[in-house]
Amino acid sequence: MHLGQLITCEHISEHEPELSVVIPAYNECTNINQLYVELNDVLSNLGMSWEVIFVDDGSTDAGWQEILALHEKDSHVKGIRLSRNFGHQYALFAGLSHAKGKAVISMDADLQHPPQLISEFVKLWQEGNKIVHTVRSDPDDFSTFKKITSRLFYRFFSFCSGVQIEPGMADFRLLDREVLDRILQFREAGLFLRGIVQWVGYPSATVEFQSANRFSGVSHYSFIKMLRFGWDGISSFSIIPLRVATLLGLLTSGVAFSGIVYAFYAKFVSGSAIPGWASSVAILSFLLGVLFILVGLIGEYIGRILIEVMQRPRYLIWEKTGMETDSTPRSPYPEQFGFERKQ
Ligand code: UDP
Ligand code: MG
Repeated sequence: MHLGQLITCEHISEHEPELSVVIPAYNECTNINQLYVELNDVLSNLGMSWEVIFVDDGSTDAGWQEILALHEKDSHVKGIRLSRNFGHQYALFAGLSHAKGKAVISMDADLQHPPQLISEFVKLWQEGNKIVHTVRSDPDDFSTFKKITSRLFYRFFSFCSGVQIEPGMADFRLLDREVLDRILQFREAGLFLRGIVQWVGYPSATVEFQSANRFSGVSHYSFIKMLRFGWDGISSFSIIPLRVATLLGLLTSGVAFSGIVYAFYAKFVSGSAIPGWASSVAILSFLLGVLFILVGLIGEYIGRILIEVMQRPRYLIWEKTGMETDSTPRSPYPEQFGFERKQ
């Protein structure tokens, strides 16, 4: 390494913040400012250098203007604007791959994740934990339906994948730079960070928190989005559904086979053939039904393979604020993580 390089490296590390906070935001313009005020309060008192990266996930409200205005006021605030709505997990990943901190915290933009917990995260990190997870108790505005389905999903996920996720684990966490760099190497398209963060291991701590109600606005996780998110999680971690499908196939063919044996027995041994079509049609349609489910399931996995082999970028960045336009993500495979428009 010659002197010029050395100076550049030192120059960069001097300006790299110790702590990054990454916040995906989709139509959260009424929450962004309040969140910044609370974050500023907490982060300024930590005695560390910091940055806050808002990722505007194709909002249709004035969210991006809000982020630009905050950046004008305070250069700690940086922004990434995706070219459309790519979904929470991708927005989060876009932010994570641009974070420069030695520790990186991710949180939601709607103030359900209390910024006041950050000092506790940092303390646990300084004590040597590489990951600080959180488990939330559900807020009052969580519907019973959402509570039950989310609990069932995490049990099922843990059963299928062997990766333990506690119900209520949220995308509110701290990752050490080392862990984050490892996670940024994951190249799959159906990102399920909650599972990946458990899968990587490393010493970790868990903080419990009472999730607040949304500061304003409504949840963007519709039932369909939750289903898609859930399926991405399960199918990216486990092929147990395919094994269940095989078992189901075996079971139904067993049932059908005994039906056939019984029909033969009735005709040739007891001499009283089963009359009519009803029973055979019933068995046939039952079998066809099962078959379609199985074909659909296999199709889902093949679809995932197709998406993976296409290797499309997972998100597109439209513009950035507060970051050099040529700042490449820190990942060893930058081309995998999203493409950005050249300014
Ligand atoms: N979010 C996003 N893109 C989306 C949906 C949500 O960036 O397509 C962000 C959203 O702005 C929030 C976080 O993800 O900061 C969690 O979303 P939300 O609060 O709607 O989910 P909930 O807390 O109801 O599960
Ligand atoms: Mg929320």
